[in-house]
Amino acid sequence: MTTGNVQTTTDKTARLVELDKKHYIHPTTSAKAQATDGSPLIFSSGNGVYATSTDGERYLDGLAMLWNVNLGHGNKELAQAAYDQMMNMAYSSSFKGYSNEPAIELSKKLAEIAPGDLNSVFYTSGGSESNDTAFKLSRFYWELKGKPSKRKIIALNNAYHGVTVAAQTATGIPAFHNFAGSNIGEVYHAKAHLTNCELGDKNDPNYEGSIRGIIEKEGADTIAAVILEPVQGSGGVHIPPEGYIQAVRKLCDEFGILMIADEVICGFGRTGKMFAVDHWDVVPDLMSMAKGISSGYSQLGGVMLRDEIRNTLVQYDGVLSHGFTYSGHPTACAVALKNIEILERDHIIEHVQAMEKVLKDGFRYLEDKHKHVTNTRSLGLLAAIELYEDPETNTLFDDAVQPATVVVDECFDRKLILRTLGSHREIIAIAPPLIINKQEIEEMIGIIDDSITAFVKKLG
Ligand code: PMP
Repeated sequence: MTTGNVQTTTDKTARLVELDKKHYIHPTTSAKAQATDGSPLIFSSGNGVYATSTDGERYLDGLAMLWNVNLGHGNKELAQAAYDQMMNMAYSSSFKGYSNEPAIELSKKLAEIAPGDLNSVFYTSGGSESNDTAFKLSRFYWELKGKPSKRKIIALNNAYHGVTVAAQTATGIPAFHNFAGSNIGEVYHAKAHLTNCELGDKNDPNYEGSIRGIIEKEGADTIAAVILEPVQGSGGVHIPPEGYIQAVRKLCDEFGILMIADEVICGFGRTGKMFAVDHWDVVPDLMSMAKGISSGYSQLGGVMLRDEIRNTLVQYDGVLSHGFTYSGHPTACAVALKNIEILERDHIIEHVQAMEKVLKDGFRYLEDKHKHVTNTRSLGLLAAIELYEDPETNTLFDDAVQPATVVVDECFDRKLILRTLGSHREIIAIAPPLIINKQEIEEMIGIIDDSITAFVKKLG
């Protein structure tokens, strides 16, 4: 019997791999490698922080898949919320005079939990659409204010804001920024985290490349908005220095420029607050959301707007010519409502704060034991570690060594999923489901420990 089952599982996986290669173009993957020798790991089920493949192997999901499965896999309450809504009415439109109960209730809930007077929401299906929406609404706001020349967007180097054409332009990671020559133009990139420059220190050698330097060069009357991730995710898990986010807020106020916070990764508890901007008591003018809004159980995103923007939009007589078929999707919104209910009911944010301490203990252990481990960092359960040849002299490993890739591969062999970030050969990102417990964090640290030991052994 057992042999028969194994045989069946293997056959099933082999068939799926073959079909995958033939018909499925994967996102953010080498299409050539995928079509030829690619052999994707095909998941079929999940439970809590673990995901299981079609061939029965169980993996600890150290990145909550794509930083989004915050309540973990196999959550029955979220599934039930989707089922209940689908049985009533899976989909209805929100265009021109129609609405639905889950979208309305979710909008009310979001207004309650969002910072300051971010009291209304425009729904999308994900993060890229949210950022494109934020850019268009920013420009439209300035048109309505009689300042149509305010069109430019300033983003940060290394930012990741998505892959739709405007979002990809704002994305500062070179491989994505102008993919297929689809850049929209009118987007500028500033050096990140230059607090002194943003506060006005013109003697700083980086001043010209700062947000303030760009505003002064281009003219505030040409700039619609500044967009930033409160903690840069895909660009390397960079936590801003204290005072930076406040400095950007002040700068935007000083020059009359809208501030867009991209909370797509950070939002809904990931950093140990409901939204990352809450760490610094900053209220952005627009706030992009996705991922954690539904823990990845439904494809939902949105942009929240402060009252000033909403009040300006509602004075416009014409149609707001922007909207997705799935804006305010009832099933997606019902899942998000349940997701937020669970976050609050189960005190997930307090749990994240407690687990961050456990993770930090683990990081200290790794730094003490392994001389190559450095720059370990976390805000809540958004974390990274780095591997340097010599942290004391700030020396990276030779390009050929690719330490993060080797360690991530070693972790994978030990059934832990982590991720390297773009062209950073030294950074490993860690962002498990927020429901992870102490024992599971210790299991994760143990695997990373063994994997670094294996890497050092390979170095010889
Ligand atoms: N913004 C940020 C900060 C992100 O991390 C991502 C996705 N990783 C996006 C936007 C784009 O979201 P999506 O992939 O849902 O379009």
